[in-house]
Amino acid sequence: MAILRFQGVAAMAKRPKPVHQMTEAQFENMFPIGDDDAPKAYLRARRWPEGVRCPRCGNPAVYDLPSRKWHWQCEKCAPDGYRFSVIAGTIFENTNKPLRQWFKVVHLMLTSKKGISSLQIQRQMGFGSYETALNMTHKIRAALIEPQTKLGGIVEIDETWVGGKDHNRHWDKKTGKSGGAGTGKTPIIGAVQRKGNVIARVLDHVTKINVEKFVRETVSHKVSLLATDDHQVYDGLKEYPVKSVRHKINQYVVGAVHTNTIEGFWSIFKRGVVGTFHKMSAKYMPLYVAEFQFRYNNRFNPDMFGTAISAC
Ligand SMILES: [Zn+2]
Repeated sequence: MAILRFQGVAAMAKRPKPVHQMTEAQFENMFPIGDDDAPKAYLRARRWPEGVRCPRCGNPAVYDLPSRKWHWQCEKCAPDGYRFSVIAGTIFENTNKPLRQWFKVVHLMLTSKKGISSLQIQRQMGFGSYETALNMTHKIRAALIEPQTKLGGIVEIDETWVGGKDHNRHWDKKTGKSGGAGTGKTPIIGAVQRKGNVIARVLDHVTKINVEKFVRETVSHKVSLLATDDHQVYDGLKEYPVKSVRHKINQYVVGAVHTNTIEGFWSIFKRGVVGTFHKMSAKYMPLYVAEFQFRYNNRFNPDMFGTAISAC
């Protein structure tokens, strides 16, 4: 542990080892209980791989504060100097939870493929209140929202309806429909690049205008194929090489044309929604979508935990 006390060059150059999916034991080993320095050293290395920079102005020439560990001072953006800590400007700031507990919650969320409920987090972490667990997980989910990029190659598009479980409703409120307006379900649209990333988004309504806007924002015009089903909302995407399978006549695969990949993502998401998040409110649906999208898009990332921490 002694080496972590020095905040000079030696500690700076030491990069935490990337681990795709840390086991519980690896986590405990990396961040031992009672060691406040280990998570801070990890956070510093992930936030500032090139060395500490001022979170306010980006200045790399900051000074160590000798009197306060894990604090620095920038003299560029404030006349008297701006003092900041390793958690300044992150979601870990202004909370009464130690960094190690935050890391533990992030780890629990990333290692459960179907998601982990806030109630489970509360129990496992021994938090006094459910709200604490809920606030932490929502902050983490919001941090995991990925910057918008465009998908290429072969892309599949599909829409689905999530939540508002029919069999939980009072008999006279049952709709008997699997989705659509008036079912209490939330519509989500998704695009996935084969062997690549998924981008999913909650829609207010499944309309041609909303769907076309989503596709134009998320799918490159240079795709070789845009595979959809025979829903009419895709009819207007004339500038794309759209080919569809006709689910209405039980046609699911025609050569490369199918939507199996995006449907696979929906099934992981729905198992999470139904099995784990019993009361997933429509209001927070975009945050859950972000969480599942992050896990999916980082499934081959050799440093999933580190990527998540640097996004926080
Ligand atoms: Zn500054």
